Amino acid sequence: MPRDYTLHTPPRPTAPRIEYRAELNEQQHAAVTAPPGQTLVIAGAGSGKTHTLTYRVAWLLDNGVLPEQILLLTFTNKAAREMLERVGALVQADTSRLWGGTFHSIGNKLLRWNAERLGYRKGFSIMDREDQKDLLETVVANSGIDTKGIRFPKAEVLGEIFSLADNTCEPLDELLATRYPYFAELIDDITKLRGLYQEKKLETNCMDFDDLLTQPVRLLREHPDLLERYQRQFEFILVDEYQDTNRLQCEFIELLTGPDGNLMVVGDDAQSIYSWRGADVTNILNFHKHWPKARVFKIEVNYRSVPEVLSLANASIANNRAQIRKNLQAARPEKGMLPALVPLDSGSAQASFVAQRILELADEGMSYDEMAVLYRAHFHSMELQMELTSRGIPFQITSGLRFFEQAHIKDVAAFMKFALNRQDEVSFMRMVKLIPGVGGASANKLWNAWLKTEAARAEVMVGKFSDLLLPMPVPKKAREGWDQLAYTLDELIVDGKPATPPEMIRSIYEGVYQDYMRAKFKNADQREQDIEQLSNYSSRFTDPLEFLSQLSLLSGVDTGDKPAPEEQEKEAVTLTTAHQAKGLEWQAVFAIWVADGMFPHARAVEGSDQGLEEERRLFYVTVTRAKDELYLCYPVVNHQARDGDILMRPSRFISELPADLMEKWNVRGGW
Ligand code: ATP
Ligand code: MG
Repeated sequence: MPRDYTLHTPPRPTAPRIEYRAELNEQQHAAVTAPPGQTLVIAGAGSGKTHTLTYRVAWLLDNGVLPEQILLLTFTNKAAREMLERVGALVQADTSRLWGGTFHSIGNKLLRWNAERLGYRKGFSIMDREDQKDLLETVVANSGIDTKGIRFPKAEVLGEIFSLADNTCEPLDELLATRYPYFAELIDDITKLRGLYQEKKLETNCMDFDDLLTQPVRLLREHPDLLERYQRQFEFILVDEYQDTNRLQCEFIELLTGPDGNLMVVGDDAQSIYSWRGADVTNILNFHKHWPKARVFKIEVNYRSVPEVLSLANASIANNRAQIRKNLQAARPEKGMLPALVPLDSGSAQASFVAQRILELADEGMSYDEMAVLYRAHFHSMELQMELTSRGIPFQITSGLRFFEQAHIKDVAAFMKFALNRQDEVSFMRMVKLIPGVGGASANKLWNAWLKTEAARAEVMVGKFSDLLLPMPVPKKAREGWDQLAYTLDELIVDGKPATPPEMIRSIYEGVYQDYMRAKFKNADQREQDIEQLSNYSSRFTDPLEFLSQLSLLSGVDTGDKPAPEEQEKEAVTLTTAHQAKGLEWQAVFAIWVADGMFPHARAVEGSDQGLEEERRLFYVTVTRAKDELYLCYPVVNHQARDGDILMRPSRFISELPADLMEKWNVRGGW
């Protein structure tokens, strides 16, 4: 009969005692101090789920559990770091040995030690989506499968299909039938490609993002010795945002926990917003089925938001049929200010409003760190980025690249820059390399030929670009593109005078760039929209140079103005998509483009009820980020340079709410 024996670390007499009772409510306290076993905390937004997990980690350390025995899984690596910092402050323990991070980062860590057991070699590389697409293209090309005659998924779509299959653990044929019925008859070819792709990854010692999860699961499933080792190591497993885990992540947790391990998960079914990426809310709803002995805690108090904000959130989510009903009570007193509903004349008026309010709040003493602007799609932030920049308001953007750092925006700008500054070698190179058939060497030759022309040295543009450029020797393949480029440049400077910025953008786009973009980028539609936005924005400038300097300032790239790392630490307003805002909170939250078709997204509205309910949960996530002030903004008119003015209606998530939950602001221009 083996004897159980537990090692304890000696108590730390110097550490101040944590006042668990004072800092936690009863339910939280019960969860934090719960005996070993499985525990579920299911509760609404801002009720302290993350707070509870943080204190649970502290409590475990306080009770002699070693840091390396704890595994903490969070939605972002930053969240894990912040939680551990807090724990470190609470118990003064060394949390660096604790395993905390996203599923992918923990999976990567396991693979770094053990990938050889799966046939990979040491130092495998991780492919990003771009690399993955390239590799898949090679695989398809060498597969002998004829993809020409029929509508065959492109490499990128194949990647998406494989990824969903991995994450949902669904067999390919079922997945195709439900999510991609139009590819269902290609099942044999797609299955074959999936196998070839796997082989290719192994052969090139590469893993894609999904492998960081599928491979660790395989590792644990196929190697009982490793399974036992890690089950033994991770005595306590804790998971935040459990409602957005997918089948594969759930399996990873179940394997590591073992049949009677110690597992604590927290989540909120009303905030499940990633089903499009394979998240499965039944993981949390059916938790007790897998773990019949689990203790369940519910928290019904919201500590984050003032009652005014909370009433709006409660009323909104009540419109969803598929949910566990909860009515969160506010712990905080009333603020005396209702959430603001702010219709604005246009997108730029919306940007001005947000920027001005941000400055006013800052004047009143609110830190920029405590303000955020949330939106449904990254490109909704474009005008605001420009407005904040021109007013000198610091911001950090977490939803994607800064608008002007994107390749297609810089491409278009390169034409304009060269037309205005004929010594601009960088822009010239960038521009000519877009022409099919022009590579680095011929671009160099062309530049040297250009330098010999009079126009290259003249202060003012003399003559026409085409007169100078057409005679130059270019590779045969590039001839047509080159000529087109020359004529396009002619349109930018007419009789020595530059055209207006929107005119220039239109010429570049229609003359050269549209064709290039459609051939080159997968998401050409999105990029077309971006360029349209750029053109909309440019219409407020008459001088293209002024417009271009504004662009450079915004991107901070061409001017060498990139903020130094220490500057990035300084206070800044956060700009983020609603998806990325999960789990976070700010004193003031501005939701922009809360207009029908924008939020909810048009596609979700056309689709099923489920799609719409997921959008509503996303709206719920958005509004519950606000602690004190919430602004719901939308432009009444969406001005499009191409299609003219489009009238916008407020989001149905606003119009379905009782009007007395909001205060309408009538914003007028002060000019
Ligand atoms: P979300 O659903 O958005 O992830 P959550 O349930 O994880 O929210 P937390 O972020 O943990 O909520 O907590 C929300 C806010 O309430 C935080 O500022 C936290 O410090 C505070 N808070 C949580 N519990 C308490 C408590 N018992 N007393 C005072 N403040 C609390
Ligand atoms: Mg949380």
